[in-house]
Amino acid sequence: MIKQQPPASQPVSGGQMQGPSAPPGFYPPPPPYQADPGQDAPGFNPAQTVVMIDPAPAVIVGQVFSDVPARVTCPSCHQSVVTRIVRHVGLMAWLISGGLCLVGCWLGCCLIPFCVDSCQDVDHFCPNCQHLIYRYKRM
Ligand SMILES: [Zn+2]
Repeated sequence: MIKQQPPASQPVSGGQMQGPSAPPGFYPPPPPYQADPGQDAPGFNPAQTVVMIDPAPAVIVGQVFSDVPARVTCPSCHQSVVTRIVRHVGLMAWLISGGLCLVGCWLGCCLIPFCVDSCQDVDHFCPNCQHLIYRYKRM
């Protein structure tokens, strides 16, 4: 919907003043016409803007183990697999839990590290032969 400004020839009755300091008969300049962004302006074709996104290969080369599954070659069955991870409570979770107890967070708050994945150790297993490939320790 296009909001049109009142024509300049419309008589001013005093109640349509834009501001208290405007002199009688003064009209502010009409705002520039805002083109509807939904309509295509002539000469502009958004389909011509082609962004080439080159998907990087999600291949992790080498012994890059963290708390997420990694693509490695299993040393047992020599297959290129994505490791199956199993999280378990490690030393870091115990230390953080003990630290929370020391500062007074012993009403259940000390159990938080045992539930947070980023505080737990991660075992990487081969999904084919269930071989333990790597044990990722937080500390
Ligand atoms: Zn294997």
